[in-house]
Amino acid sequence: MMIAYLDQQQQRRLVPDAEPEASGVPSAAESPDGDAALLRVMELHVAPGDACAAAADFGGMVRSSPAVALRPATASDVAQVIRLAASSQRLTVAARGNGHSVAGQAMAGGGVVLDMRAVGPASMELVRVGGAAYADVSGGALWEEVLDWGVKNYRLSPVSWTDYLDLTVGGTLSNGGISGQAFKHGPQISNVAEMEIVTGDGDCHVCSPCILPDLFYAVLGGLGQFGVITRARIPMQPSPLMVKWIRVVYERFEEYAADAEYLVNRPESDSFDYVEGFAFVNSAEDPVNGWASVPVPPGSGFDPSRIPPESGPVLYCLEVALHYDHLLDDNVDRRVGEMMRPLRYTRGLEFAADVGYVEFLARVKRAEEEARANGSWAAPHPWLNLLVSARDIAGFDREVFKGILRHGIGGPMLVYPMLRSKWDARTSVAVPESDIFYLVALLRFSKPYPEGPPAEELVAQNRRIVDCCRSNGYDFKLYLPHYKTETEWAHHFGDDWPRFVERKSRYDPTALLSPGQKIFSRRAHESPL
Ligand code: FAD
Repeated sequence: MMIAYLDQQQQRRLVPDAEPEASGVPSAAESPDGDAALLRVMELHVAPGDACAAAADFGGMVRSSPAVALRPATASDVAQVIRLAASSQRLTVAARGNGHSVAGQAMAGGGVVLDMRAVGPASMELVRVGGAAYADVSGGALWEEVLDWGVKNYRLSPVSWTDYLDLTVGGTLSNGGISGQAFKHGPQISNVAEMEIVTGDGDCHVCSPCILPDLFYAVLGGLGQFGVITRARIPMQPSPLMVKWIRVVYERFEEYAADAEYLVNRPESDSFDYVEGFAFVNSAEDPVNGWASVPVPPGSGFDPSRIPPESGPVLYCLEVALHYDHLLDDNVDRRVGEMMRPLRYTRGLEFAADVGYVEFLARVKRAEEEARANGSWAAPHPWLNLLVSARDIAGFDREVFKGILRHGIGGPMLVYPMLRSKWDARTSVAVPESDIFYLVALLRFSKPYPEGPPAEELVAQNRRIVDCCRSNGYDFKLYLPHYKTETEWAHHFGDDWPRFVERKSRYDPTALLSPGQKIFSRRAHESPL
């Protein structure tokens, strides 16, 4: 059965729009009678959450007030809420992780928001199966909590990360979860052994690559469309003690990209553990603004005089890291030296630091503290994340980094390659066709207007970038996509769109889950005659 699409007038009546609106949370009593009664039953059984917080997100550009926010303590709370919502004609339900989306993806205007943080580290458990170790963690646990718990208690940790760790397990598994380890281990969605999912009919399932595999893969990268992740089983490996963290600078994109691709293609046994990089403006005033920057020793800052005057408007920083145990391994400098020798970076601008593994993974925390102090954390974040095929990345550099963005974006412009072979085509996430593709993350951190540019100007610049990719025929996908029409979503998923629609009709037949993604419209359930 295909999802039936409602005409636009019906959509407007059934699904409150998630466009900016006046603040103020409507009470359950303001909803139509039947829904108000259902909402009251939910509120009787599940602890109330913060509806004002649930009406906003990190992006700061969309507000949409739910009828209620709830804090489920268990998977059965989640199931009960979804079952009640499914029995209504119009209620929707959004799982909210840490609300770090930028376009209202975790909102449910006029519906129910489940604050998944309500079940956090308290529920973590180490499981051993056939000699391998796994962490069973709730969908609402932060990756930072998983790291702390695993390292402190067992000296074990997951292998695939995001740059920033205050994101929930359920939130990143609904998207992908990418950082500098993805070239080696795949994204976070390639590093899950089992999940507990409450589907759109309120049933709770355990799924894995062997048990209900279609549900398992549908949910991974599934933008919250097919079920709420209440538990995930994450493979754990012994945590390294130390990280050798190196940063080098390139003047020419072609050399930067060729070296980065060479590094991600090295045999696993002989490769770095982390490869990332970013573009930055060639200006003494803004020497390096990548988040992941190695802590440069005091007094030895970036010396722009080493950059030849004929260099272009944009330079590139490659960052690599190698794990080691300083008690056992005194070969790290020799191994790093051998791996760096063939690279064509500008000599004399390299920096290296030895840091603890946990400190390395928590590196964006420093940037968060600075951004909170200068007001840019609370300002709107019109971010754009793209996956661009290696075939087109030189053109992208020419048109976008050296063209549209030659003056920078007031924040990191990440650009680094990954291997398609590490992404499982059975998951729901859409990626470019080519064997190597780049993450391009334009992480704008401007001060609030009028100190910084108006957010609309930056949104328009994002649109120009996407239009540029389209008009040049680049093979690209939005990562953390946000579209508004069915046509755009169908184009985003391409040949996999029929599979996405079919999975939706199977796992969430009334399309009540994750309405903030604006992919499907709520369908009334069919009453028995
Ligand atoms: P939310 O924003 O709350 O939710 C996102 C979507 O997932 C929504 O549709 C929601 O309904 C759904 N969802 C949430 N929880 C569940 C659940 N338990 N079950 C089912 N669906 C659920 N991403 C990267 O890949 N790599 C990075 O390095 C990275 N760094 C970031 C740094 C910052 C400062 C920020 C703000 C974001 C970053 N992101 C990164 C993006 C981030 O992964 C996504 O925005 C993610 O969705 C946010 O996680 P969250 O837990 O806050 O989810």
